[in-house]
Amino acid sequence: MTDRYASFVQSGAGRALVKRLGLPDPPRLRRHTPGDPLVPGPVLLGTAAGSRLAEPVTKVLTFAGVELRDPVAATDDPVRYAGLVYDATGITDSTGLRQLYDFFHPHARSLTPSGRVIVLGTPPAECGSPREATAQRALEGLTRSIGKEFGRGVTAQLVYVTKDGDAGTLTSLESTLRFLLSGRSAYVSGQVVRIGAGTATAPADWDRPLDGQVVLVTGAARGIGAALATVLARDGAQVVALDVPSAGDALAEVANEIGGSAVQLDLTAPDAPTRLAEHLAARHGRVDVVVHNAGITRDKTLGRMDPDRWDQVIDVNLSSQERINDVLLERDLIPAGGRIVSVSSIAGIAGNRGQTNYATSKAGVIGLVDSLTPVLRERGISLNAVAPGFIETRLTARIPLMLREAGRRMNSMAQGGLPVDVAETIGWLAWPASGAVTGNVVRVCGQSLLGA
Ligand code: NAD
Repeated sequence: MTDRYASFVQSGAGRALVKRLGLPDPPRLRRHTPGDPLVPGPVLLGTAAGSRLAEPVTKVLTFAGVELRDPVAATDDPVRYAGLVYDATGITDSTGLRQLYDFFHPHARSLTPSGRVIVLGTPPAECGSPREATAQRALEGLTRSIGKEFGRGVTAQLVYVTKDGDAGTLTSLESTLRFLLSGRSAYVSGQVVRIGAGTATAPADWDRPLDGQVVLVTGAARGIGAALATVLARDGAQVVALDVPSAGDALAEVANEIGGSAVQLDLTAPDAPTRLAEHLAARHGRVDVVVHNAGITRDKTLGRMDPDRWDQVIDVNLSSQERINDVLLERDLIPAGGRIVSVSSIAGIAGNRGQTNYATSKAGVIGLVDSLTPVLRERGISLNAVAPGFIETRLTARIPLMLREAGRRMNSMAQGGLPVDVAETIGWLAWPASGAVTGNVVRVCGQSLLGA
């Protein structure tokens, strides 16, 4: 799938025309290439009075080779920053929000294309007073607006970090900063990520954050699943790639290319969970990460939908995930420190015409994250969902042209995402270092106006 309009706009002739006619202007997004520095320029780190995270953040980013600047020294500096990071954990009252203006206003135009804005806060539910909780909740409005305002591929996120942190919290803060600052998060913007306490292990080498991990990817023969298998293997994982038998050739190709193994299995078959569990037990003795990516659409408006379309979509997209989780957990195949990542959709957040079955299944995936996270936390296992927006795949290529163009452009990046963007986001949640990031639904939608 290609976005011909974006290629045209990024050409010389296209640029002139787009400016003259005021057409959507999709920027070229910075994406990750192994060996890249985390950010391509200095990062400005600001701190609200009384904040608690500046010290660990300075340590982590310096260790990661980031050139950090101090706002006081930088006032008259014409430097272009690759990132603005602000520790807002010290803001305990709405009057303190002025500090955000004082930090961001002078630097609103100093970010490089695909620059990064990250604000750190305290989860409102953990705040000591209603005033503090109010001020911390206000941070969401700032980051979501910056994501919509700054343009040129700039992303903006809010990261709530628990006050009751442990070593796992700091490791996951590091993994999250590394993800959000890098080109891996090219199509993630306007998100709120929560980091709690929990089991998280830093890798020996941050260029191979999944070294030695056994990762199951369902629906791996094509699209997002194939990109996922490739990204996870690049990051060091041993990938078990699963898809239906009829996709066997494509699946074998993916598995061979990455040195992984292939499992041909229809997830809706009654014996699928036990066969999968037996395969994983015999081959690996465990599975460190399960990525529930397989999914289908069977679109029709509700009045015209036959019961098969309803049943198939709920079964593949939701019930099969539950059955597989149950068997893998019952048999203790996911060890403490393991991670589960489920693929939802922004249709599950916003709803979509002609997709009542699909949106129900994908909202159910979010329900699964909400309800199972506390249970899994007891076992030291994290659970998160990613909700992709418009991603350039065969699924979206089938959408009629005008609807497709609307879906593609109605987001802060003015373009569709690529399968690799979803894969990189799932990759981050799959890292052992991200174990204290749990219970989140992270949208990979370029800050789509749908479901916002
Ligand atoms: P895709 O159709 O290209 O790939 C899905 C894969 O899942 C296929 O290889 C298919 O054979 C496999 N699969 C389907 N049913 C299966 C079953 N019963 N057992 C085993 N494998 C099965 O789709 P995609 O675009 O790569 O989507 C991947 C995931 O992302 C899906 O869950 C989808 O709902 C979700 N998603 C995609 C988009 C998008 O824009 N493409 C947006 C939001 C969410």
